[in-house]
Amino acid sequence: MIGRVSLVGAGPGDPELLTFKAARAITRATVLLVDDLVSDGVLAFANAAARVIHVGKRGGCASTPQAFIDKLMLAEALKGEEVVRLKGGDPFMFGRGGEEAERLRAHGITVDVVNGITSGLAAITSLGVPFTHREHAHGVIFVTGHARADGQALHWPTLGAAAAQGLTLVIYMGVSAIDTLQAGLQQVLPAHTPAAVVQHASLPQQRQVFCRLGTLAAQIHFKAIGSPAIIIVGDVLRGMSSLSNSPGAARAA
Ligand code: SAH
Repeated sequence: MIGRVSLVGAGPGDPELLTFKAARAITRATVLLVDDLVSDGVLAFANAAARVIHVGKRGGCASTPQAFIDKLMLAEALKGEEVVRLKGGDPFMFGRGGEEAERLRAHGITVDVVNGITSGLAAITSLGVPFTHREHAHGVIFVTGHARADGQALHWPTLGAAAAQGLTLVIYMGVSAIDTLQAGLQQVLPAHTPAAVVQHASLPQQRQVFCRLGTLAAQIHFKAIGSPAIIIVGDVLRGMSSLSNSPGAARAA
């Protein structure tokens, strides 16, 4: 029998940001393997009889080893279960969705992928800011702030040079390395470059800070902004003096 697994994007947290396709897949599933960043509101779409397996780091425990997750998905799919692998944001934006799909396909499993709204986009939108702007923001770079597995750090001055040309930097997993990241970007970008950080985008507990690149790390430490958070750097934020009109302002930290 040929098994099937759906890799489904749970979006940034607000269940209303789920796609119809994702909501249907979640409801149909008989087995769900769920990451940490999937909100309870999204899980409410699951069938009461479904098996929901949390495979993240919830409660401070070590995360489930990837090999175990892969094996479990494979075994359940081969049993004929409707398996949904539910991931925060979009399943193919960081978070190893691509690797999981490759391994499943190598075992002959059919993999469907359902897009979700990635947290980087939700974070910017929650500030009332566009991703691009014809005048001063010509593209977006999605990048991880987490050190690479091979130990090679990203070259932040190069990314700063891209931002200097009007590309918006949207940085995932950047909070713990913020000092390095800021120092690297500031080799190229002026300290007054607009910056923001958004924690828990789209959820009731969302917090955000707007500042300048030169004070970004200090603000993150001072306001105790932790993961999950998105850091945004670029001129696209420069209209933020009109913050009081933005939807996120009511929830400002
Ligand atoms: N696939 C996910 C990203 C997984 S990597 C997506 O498309 O969004 C995990 C990182 O995503 C976190 O460290 C954080 O940087 C970001 N993230 C996920 N959900 C978030 C949220 N609601 N608010 C802010 N950042 C979030």
